[in-house]
Amino acid sequence: MASAPTKTRHSTIADGLTGSRRSASVRGVAKQGDSSFDVVVVGSGASGGWAAKRLTEAGVKVALVEAGRPHGKNETYEHKRPFDLPYANLSRELLRRTRPRQTDCYACTEYNAHWFVNDLDEPYTTPADKPFSWQGRTRLVGGRTNVWGRQSYRMSEQDLKGRSFDGAGEDWPLSYDDLAPYYDLVERYIGVSGQAEGTPELPDGQFLPPMAMTCGEKRLRDAAKAAFGRTITIGRTAILTTPLNGRAACHYCGPCERGCATHSYFNAAFTTVADAMATGNCTLVTDAMVYQVLMDSDHRRATGVRYVDRVSRETKELRGRVVVLCAQALESVRILLNSKTRQQPQGLANSSGVLGRYLMDHLWVAGGAGGEFPDVEDKATLDRPRRPNGLYGIRFRNTLKGPRSKRFLRGFGYQGGGSTDFNFAAPGFGDAWKASLRDPVVSVRLTGFGECLPYPTNFLELDPETVDVFGIPVLRIHMTWGENEMAMIPDMAESAAEMLDAAGARNIRPFMVPDRVPGFGIHEMGGARMGTDPKASVLNSFQQTHDVSNLFVMDASGFPSGGCQNPTLTIMALAIRSTAHLLEEMKRGNL
Ligand SMILES: Cc1cc2nc3c(=O)[nH]c(=O)nc-3n(C[C@H](O)[C@H](O)[C@H](O)COP(=O)(O)OP(=O)(O)OC[C@H]3O[C@@H](n4cnc5c(N)ncnc54)[C@H](O)[C@@H]3O)c2cc1C
Ligand code: SF4
Repeated sequence: MASAPTKTRHSTIADGLTGSRRSASVRGVAKQGDSSFDVVVVGSGASGGWAAKRLTEAGVKVALVEAGRPHGKNETYEHKRPFDLPYANLSRELLRRTRPRQTDCYACTEYNAHWFVNDLDEPYTTPADKPFSWQGRTRLVGGRTNVWGRQSYRMSEQDLKGRSFDGAGEDWPLSYDDLAPYYDLVERYIGVSGQAEGTPELPDGQFLPPMAMTCGEKRLRDAAKAAFGRTITIGRTAILTTPLNGRAACHYCGPCERGCATHSYFNAAFTTVADAMATGNCTLVTDAMVYQVLMDSDHRRATGVRYVDRVSRETKELRGRVVVLCAQALESVRILLNSKTRQQPQGLANSSGVLGRYLMDHLWVAGGAGGEFPDVEDKATLDRPRRPNGLYGIRFRNTLKGPRSKRFLRGFGYQGGGSTDFNFAAPGFGDAWKASLRDPVVSVRLTGFGECLPYPTNFLELDPETVDVFGIPVLRIHMTWGENEMAMIPDMAESAAEMLDAAGARNIRPFMVPDRVPGFGIHEMGGARMGTDPKASVLNSFQQTHDVSNLFVMDASGFPSGGCQNPTLTIMALAIRSTAHLLEEMKRGNL
């Protein structure tokens, strides 16, 4: 998909993505006036929102620096109809002209494409034989939590200690017991609806009432348990099923990725960031594209950040006693790489040499199966409530007690769910077809989300040739799936099909997508991994860089391994834990 830039002024990078040649470098520095804070937090999404909330609530003065813009008034589109849009939501090809990568993602549509980066202005590159789809790059306060899928799962002790279990990768430098109180805290605040199942592979949490399952889903759940001892549960989702903290319960309108006027799903903009602002201790600096961490003359302590104002294109600085990067895994690594100095030519906080390495994503919908339940009675309608949630099939391969696979290490979970649709494939035409169209097709689909092992050969670096529209060097992303991931795909399909078969499903359709492009999971993790050994890791267990004690990176770049669960609940729990440590260190006078 991607190739090396050519020698033209605008180098063609991938599918029409263009980036300026490097000669268009960032402009000279114009210092801002009153710009000194206790802590500078970069990024206002899942992790940055929590860091800002906890710090400001403790009385700390924070600059929350965000590359995106603030929300406009009533900027939600979940109830807007396609015919209210200029192109009736049929403008995918038009959108692809400026957002060829962002429109790879189902969540970027004519309703909300303006929330996402213009890929031509803010490109990245890859080697020609290693395509990577970097999607979900929003430029709006709240970050990706504006559009995320809200699935919220804890990682288990086995996930955090994978190396001890099977020898691959590295263990996390903290245990499940270290994280559990912070998982509790996040869940109680954001509101996660779900069902406790008592399975060690997917620890239970502080759940709001679960959403209901369809009849087909229940049939599959019962059969999977009876025939294989596998647990299928309703999705654990950061959507309110009862009112919480002034937010209303969900009314099942469906398209959450377009925003939610009732704030029923967790979006940092209206929760953590709003709380931080309410303290009076938070200064929100929007449209600020941070590209460097500033250091003192000894190169020992961070002193602030440097950014390009997206509107005026001026370069500005903000000073702080502590800097916390929460810009999303790839963006934070980019800032550290761009902060290289003569003393640290490989990037800031990179004495280990592993900065950028061990990039991961989840092997997303690469295998699975769907099937139909003709004997389940239901009716296809256009106006039924739309449950914004699906099923979750808990990992059952290579577990502490479960069956081991001879083909691969680690495992996968299933997401998916049931639906009742019109029978558009009905034979015939005219009145007969219209009548058969109404025969409901009751189906359930399971799609695998697999763990990707951390490989040093999957890495991020700066592209020496290409800068974005602001003159900031862009990332060159190197990522492919390894043999272990590829070996999971047939099992995803076979295991889903055998569960559907046990449930009495008909027309079972297993599928495999061996050429699934990395990035489609939109769960980028790694690049600045945590660890106990400063020679082999960038961060300690509090996401504090080993090299620069007042520099933290609190997003998923610190994950040493990724489990198969969606990462954001863990990102938030970790950010709170690390912020608590930061506050303690400030109190002790160490920062
Ligand atoms: C469509 C979609 C579905 C998803 N579904 C799920 C799901 O179901 N469950 C799950 O767990 N996860 C899901 N995710 C992933 C989830 O959204 C992320 O894991 C999470 O938001 C990451 O949090 P973060 O704080 O690291 O980054 P973000 O929430 O993205 O916040 C980072 C912020 O930093 C800003 N920023 C970036 N660069 C700079 C810079 N240089 N200077 C200043 N600011 C900067 C960005 O504009 C952004 O606002 C989904 C993501 C997408 C896009
Ligand atoms: S389905 Fe629920 S959470 Fe989603 S937009 Fe509608 S009300 Fe909000």
